[in-house]
Amino acid sequence: MKTFPMFLQMAGRCVVIAGGGEQAAQKARLMLKTEARLRLVAYDLEPELAGLVASGRAEQVREATVEAFAGAALVFIATGDAARDTALHAMAKAAGCLVNVVDRPDLCDAVTPSIVDRDPVVVAIGTEGNAPVLGRQIKTQIEQLLEPNLGGLAALAGRMRSTVAGAVPQAQRRALWDWVFAGPVRAAHARGGEREAARMLKDAIARGQAPGETGQGHIALVGAGPGARDLLTLRAVQRLQQADVIFYDRLVDPAVMELARRDAQRIYVGKTLGAHEWPQERIDAVIIAAARQGQRVVRLKSGDPSLFGRAEEELRAAHAAGIPVEIIPGVTAASAAAASLGRAMTERGATDHLILATATARDGVAAPDIAAMARPGATLALYMAVRQLPRIRADLLAAGWPETTEVEAVASASSAQEVQCRCILGDMDRALAGLANPAIIFVRFAKDAVAVPQTPHLQVVSA
Ligand code: SAH
Repeated sequence: MKTFPMFLQMAGRCVVIAGGGEQAAQKARLMLKTEARLRLVAYDLEPELAGLVASGRAEQVREATVEAFAGAALVFIATGDAARDTALHAMAKAAGCLVNVVDRPDLCDAVTPSIVDRDPVVVAIGTEGNAPVLGRQIKTQIEQLLEPNLGGLAALAGRMRSTVAGAVPQAQRRALWDWVFAGPVRAAHARGGEREAARMLKDAIARGQAPGETGQGHIALVGAGPGARDLLTLRAVQRLQQADVIFYDRLVDPAVMELARRDAQRIYVGKTLGAHEWPQERIDAVIIAAARQGQRVVRLKSGDPSLFGRAEEELRAAHAAGIPVEIIPGVTAASAAAASLGRAMTERGATDHLILATATARDGVAAPDIAAMARPGATLALYMAVRQLPRIRADLLAAGWPETTEVEAVASASSAQEVQCRCILGDMDRALAGLANPAIIFVRFAKDAVAVPQTPHLQVVSA
C-alpha cells in the first residue's frame, strides 16, 4: 500500500479550503458531511460558498498567509490555477498541515476515497489512482448492499452499548449484536420500522439475550430470480447473508449460492426429474426442524417463491409450528423471459390480460385446460409447458384459435444458456421441438382474433 486508510478526527477541528470556485465548492460539500469548522481562503467566493459564510457555517479569510492555514486538521487546495495551487501548497506545508491539492497527486499527503455514507457507518474505497472506474463500481455495489437508513441502526446500537454491557452477560453479547445486525431487528429497521427495531432490541436486553438463544428460529422463502445473480433483490441478498442454513433446489444457479455467508450450511433438496428423494413433506419437515433449533433458515426458490413453487405448503407448515415466516419476492421467469425478448407482456390497446399458468398438473390430476384460459387480448405465459406442446397446440387449434397466433419461447432466460424462439401456433410443435427445460412459452392472442370451435360441443336446436 502506498497510502493507508485512516479516519481523521473532524469534530470541533478546522478544515481549510483554499479557492473560491466550483472545485472548492465540491470539497466544501464533502466537508459539510463532517463536524469540522470550515475556513475558506479566497478573495471571491462563488454563490454557494458565499452562502456558507453568510449562514455562519464557514468563515472567510481573504489573504492567503501561512497563518491562514495554522492549526488545520486538513487542507484542500482547489483554486483551479496550477501556479497558485503550488504557492498555496508551500504555505500550507510551512504551517505543518496535511494537504490535498486537487488533481495534483504529486503534492498530496492525503487523497479522498470514494465514500459510501451511512453515517456513523462509513465505507471508504480507494484504488491509489489505478482504477477509478473500478472504485466507482465497488462503491455502487456497496451502496446497494447497505440499506439507506443503516446509519440510524448503528447509531441506535451506539446509544444502547452501555446498557447492553450492564444487562447482558459478556458471553451473550456478541450473539446479541449478531442477532441485531443480521436478523429481524435489522430487517425491521430497513423496512422503516425504526420503533419496532428499537423495541425488539430493548426486549432482548431486558431478557439478557438474543431471541435466537432461546430457540426462536425464522424461515424466509426467498425468490432467487430466474438465474442471473444480479436479478436477485437486495432483500434476497441480505437474507442469504444472514442465513445459517439454506435449502435450495435444481433451478437455483450456483452463482446465486455464492452470495450466501461462507459458513452457512447449504442443503440440496432438489428433485432430479422423476426422482422423489425430496418429497414436499420431507422438505417441510427439515426446514421446520432447522428453524426449531433456532437457525435462520432460507428456503431459496427459483423465480418468485409464490408462483408454482409450493410455497403455500411451506407457509402452512411454518404457521402450524408457530415459526415466523416471510416471503421475499423474486423476479419470475415470465418477467425475465419477456425482458430477454425485449418485449412487454402487456401492450396498451392490444393486450389487456396477462395469464400466468402452469401446463402441468400433479400426478393423477387432469392437465390444466389451456384452451379455457385463452381469450382475445391476452398474453398467456406458460410455465412447465415444454413437454406439453403437442397437446397445447392441438387444444388451442381445436378451440378455433388461428394458426397464425403468435408464440414465443425462452429457455433458461437470463442465463448463459438462454435460447429464444419465435413461431406461430400452427408450427409450434416443430419449431419448438428442441427446446430444453426450463422454458417459458408465451402465446399472444390478438385482440381481434375470434376463436371458432372446429368441432362444436353444443348443438343449438331451434324451438
Ligand atoms: N417460481 C418460479 C417458477 C417455478 S416452476 C418462477 O417464479 O419463475 C418451474 C418453471 O419455471 C419451469 O418449468 C419453467 O417453465 C420456468 N422457469 C424457471 N426458470 C426459468 C428460466 N430461467 N427461464 C425460463 N423459464 C424458467
